[in-house]
Amino acid sequence: METRELTCIRCPIGCHITVELDNGEVKSISGNSCPRGEEYAASEVTHPERIVTSLVTLEGGERPVVSVKTAGNVPKEKMMDVVGALKEVSARAPVNIGDVIVKDIAGTGVDIVATSAVPAK
Ligand code: SF4
Repeated sequence: METRELTCIRCPIGCHITVELDNGEVKSISGNSCPRGEEYAASEVTHPERIVTSLVTLEGGERPVVSVKTAGNVPKEKMMDVVGALKEVSARAPVNIGDVIVKDIAGTGVDIVATSAVPAK
């Protein structure tokens, strides 16, 4: 039996969660205050995923960059691929919040969307 101690990152409360595993299979989850914590803990010990946030170069805008994030979680092991792919990307102003900047970033099936608005110069 293996015990993993986690801090839930699904909300600012940060519940301390204990997961008991047997041969990689989740046997029990405790310490979470809501179902989101249980979902997070189960995913974290079997297939961890994250939202990636970054900046993308912007042409013709009032600012030279625009903030972006993945529209959903990507596998943790693909995070550096996503960050690397974003270094090669540039967008064109104007950009609005929620605009898709890159489709299917790094083959993850997840889009990159703008998290701020930047008007054209
Ligand atoms: S278990 Fe629920 S209440 Fe606790 S940190 Fe996670 S989301 Fe927040």
